Amino acid sequence: MRRRTDIEIEDLGDGITRLNEFDFVNAFLVEGETGAALIDAGAGAADLAAVVKSLTDKPLTVLITHAHADHVGGAVWFPEVWLHPADLKRGKSYLKPPARLYFLWCHKYKKKTHRVSYRAAFQKDYTPRILELADGQVFDLGGRTLETVLTPGHSPGSVVFRDSMTGALFTGDNVNPMVTLHFPGGTTVKTWLEGARRTLALAGDAKIYGGHGDGRIPQTALTKAIALAEDVLKDGNGRSHKTRVRRGETKYPALYYRADRVE
Ligand SMILES: [Zn+2]
Ligand SMILES: [Zn+2]
Repeated sequence: MRRRTDIEIEDLGDGITRLNEFDFVNAFLVEGETGAALIDAGAGAADLAAVVKSLTDKPLTVLITHAHADHVGGAVWFPEVWLHPADLKRGKSYLKPPARLYFLWCHKYKKKTHRVSYRAAFQKDYTPRILELADGQVFDLGGRTLETVLTPGHSPGSVVFRDSMTGALFTGDNVNPMVTLHFPGGTTVKTWLEGARRTLALAGDAKIYGGHGDGRIPQTALTKAIALAEDVLKDGNGRSHKTRVRRGETKYPALYYRADRVE
């Protein structure tokens, strides 16, 4: 039986490796000549630090795209991580056992063929040092850099990292084919739209890597999601707090938003 704590490793070329934790969430390892960066830390069920160590012995910087439990939970395996201050409060709560346990429990019952190792997830009981990321901050890995671009939307502190060598963007959950702005802390559609346009302009012909699925986000998915958001903005704010969803002709992309948080 395959264990939920397994990490699937996929070499994407150009010194970029996708690390997928229990068929659910992606982290990306980016290697330069003198250093390596791990973008997102997974949910924490697997010992991601050990997996990274088996792939590179270069000094490691851990960068978090946003502070949801499936991206920041695995930070417990590392001594320090970088996170934007707008996501700091939520990030700290997701590092505590109750939130992580609930998250892992939910996923255990979603996919019964897999098994979560609670012991592995909780044998680390310390909280990593959290360093504050700034918009425009650059991390030099030797021969390539990763630049931080603040794009609030999915969460207030959502950031994108841009690889100078390939131009690739690592976008976490902010521009997935299913855009989700309705979680606590999600911004208005208008705010997301500004970041999404910035992301699209930055991408050019380069690849966009996201936090879920196979990690590849086609540019057309982003273009279509932007069109949906522009449509929602035309309608303006609604009175209710209810979550609405705007879809194009197919199931995806879809834009989940709160009616009272449009502009
Ligand atoms: Zn998220
Ligand atoms: Zn996620």
